[in-house]
Parts: sequence; structure tokens; C-alpha cells
Amino acid sequence: MVIIMDTGAAADIIQAVIDKVSELGFTPHPIYGVEKTVVAVIGDKTQEKIEVLRTMPGVERIVPILQPFKLAARDVAPQGTEVDLGRGVTIGGQSLVMMAGPCAIESAEQYVAIGRYVRSAGAKVLRGGIYKPRTSPHDFQGLREDGIPLMRQIKEELDILLISEVLDPRGVELLADVVDIFQIGTRNMQNFSLLTECGRTEKPVVIKRGMCATLDDLLKAAEYVLVEGNNRVILCERGIRTFETQYRNTLDISAVPTLKRMSHLPVMVDPSHSAGRPDIVPALCKAAIAAGADGLLVETHLDPQGALVDGDQALDAPAFERLMRELEPFAHAAGRPL
Ligand code: PEP
Ligand code: MN
Repeated sequence: MVIIMDTGAAADIIQAVIDKVSELGFTPHPIYGVEKTVVAVIGDKTQEKIEVLRTMPGVERIVPILQPFKLAARDVAPQGTEVDLGRGVTIGGQSLVMMAGPCAIESAEQYVAIGRYVRSAGAKVLRGGIYKPRTSPHDFQGLREDGIPLMRQIKEELDILLISEVLDPRGVELLADVVDIFQIGTRNMQNFSLLTECGRTEKPVVIKRGMCATLDDLLKAAEYVLVEGNNRVILCERGIRTFETQYRNTLDISAVPTLKRMSHLPVMVDPSHSAGRPDIVPALCKAAIAAGADGLLVETHLDPQGALVDGDQALDAPAFERLMRELEPFAHAAGRPL
């Protein structure tokens, strides 16, 4: 059930409802929106017990959530959720957020140089993994803990937000200290203990759709984070496995408007892992904007041929600059400043 509070309901009125929910033996999940606050309540027989709240001051209405994903459902926050990423940047509102950078952090020189570059080109968030989930154990696995001081250094120097993949629950605390946004990769979308651990932090979490996962599966994964009390969840379509071999994965562009209908959470698109090649990345970015994506996650590298991971799909500096220029009128046409 979702208790929808009156627009502008005062904090003490909302708190009284939250307290009443607890008193009835349920865990309240308040979601504070810019205008409206809703309190989601999950559990058996909620409907009959929650009915008594209908007459409490500040309660506009109570609606049942019929989907298997309760807290991620659109009905919980029909106006959509804007997630605060820090440093004045939000996603899910009007602005379109560009996150860019290398697949992996390879060295201080590489990371600082590309960081400076993507920042000057207009990206708000710098990406770069130190834990890389590689298909083969013989491939470069990332700098791991050695990458943490580099992340600290770049944050100070560039005053930029950082996103990085967290591979297992043991890495959550360590990374929380330095990154602004956790990335949960396609291979880990159903790593439930990892999702739970991220849910126990207050950091925004980008959850990439599993390469063979349905949208329902993705929203149930998001639910694992939300149910722990972390409402800062962002969904990311990054391409699914199909029979087509011309590109690495198939960008399921239909996922963007469909997820928007199903859920109140912001939706991003990663065209790089969808494509696996740089030449079609700009077209996929434009399609993502047209479909209503709230953000883009693009791999860039100053020397793609020399990259230790995913060089095949990285945009080089001139291509990224061109992309940012090309996207401007598309973003403008969609009413989304970049
Ligand atoms: C990545 O972003 O570098 C990555 C490994 O992505 P995905 O989990 O989508 O494959
Ligand atoms: Mn990559």
C-alpha cells in the first residue's frame, strides 16, 4: 500500500503517519518528493490494517500497489523521483546528466588526463572502474585497492563526482569512502547481498540491467536497495544479449519509456556496452534522449587502442567532444539541458 500525503504536508503530520504505520507493526518507507511525500507500506494484510490511516490529518489517499516490485512502482511517486547525486547535480529532473570516462582506471596519468578532459567537455560525473568483472580471470582485473588513492586525488583536483563499480559486498564500505555513486554491473544485477549492502548506504546506486534480465527482474533488483531505505536508485539500460553479432549487445530502447511507465526511478542508458563499438554510440545517445533517458554513461579514452579494457568501444577525445556538441540540439529539442 502507498499512503499519499497532501501536497506540502508538514513534517510533523508526515511523522505522525510514519509513527502510526510502525505502531501497526509495519516498516514505513517514506519517500520524500519535492512537492509530495508518500509512505509505502509492505507486508501481509496491509490493506485492512492500513485503512485506519485514511482519516489521519494530511493523508490524501491510500492506493494499493499491485506489482511485485512495490517501492519501485510508478504509483509510489507518480511525479517521478529526482535523485541527488551531490555537488548540486541531480538526475531524474529536467537536466540530462552525462557520465563519462574510461572503462577502467589504469594509472594516475591516464585517469587524471581523461578526467580533466571529460570535465572540460561538459560531463558532470567521471566514470572508471577499479574492480573489473572480466569474463576471463587472466584479463586485467582493475587496480583494485591501489586505485583508491587515485580516486581521492582526482576528486580533489577536479571537483567532480565519481561513479565506480562495486563488485561484492566487501567492497561497499571501502568504495563508499571515495565514490559518489555506486555502479552495480550487468553481471551482478541479481547479486542480492550486494544490492542489500548498497541499500544500507545513502549513496546513489546505478543498477545496470542484467544482459538477460527482464524489466520486471530489474525492478525487483532495485527493490532490494529500496527496501533497505536507500531511495537513491537509478536504472540503467546497457544492452541485452540477442542473436545479432554486428554489435556487442542490442540496446533495448523500448526499455526507457517502458521503465518510465513502470517506475518512478530515473533511467539512464549506457550506449557503449550496448554497442561495443564507438561509431554508433552517438546515434544511440540521440535515441536515448528521444526515448526520455535521464542520463548517459559513455566510455571515453585518450588512447582507445592502448586501453586495458573495452578499448574497442571507447570514444577518443575528438569523438567525445563532437558527441557533446551534437547532443546539445537534441537535448534542447527534448527540453533537457545537458
Ligand atoms: C562497465 O561499465 O565497464 C561494465 C562492466 O558494464 P556492464 O556491467 O554493463 O557490462
Ligand atoms: Mn567497460
